[in-house]
Amino acid sequence: MPRYKNLEPTAAFWSWRDGAACIGHEDLFYSLEEESKGARRKKEDQAKAICAGCPVFDTCRTFALETKELYGVWGGLTEADRHRIAGRHRTG
Ligand code: SF4
Repeated sequence: MPRYKNLEPTAAFWSWRDGAACIGHEDLFYSLEEESKGARRKKEDQAKAICAGCPVFDTCRTFALETKELYGVWGGLTEADRHRIAGRHRTG
């Protein structure tokens, strides 16, 4: 049973994000449709570097995986990384 099954729009629920290292760098964590693969990859690498030093890394990664977050870099994982992990879990 996912720990984050029921998302709550409350400040208390989202308080773990108060310590996020990505605050102020949000543009690096989400890519635009029109961006080239190279530009996207560069932003993802920069985002992952920020995640690597983030004090809420584990919580963020767990949250993104358990809620099947579709977009952006969370806990050092890109959208493609999460798809790969989800696929591995489905196929065992
Ligand atoms: S792990 Fe990365 S995406 Fe998650 S809160 Fe920290 S910096 Fe932001």
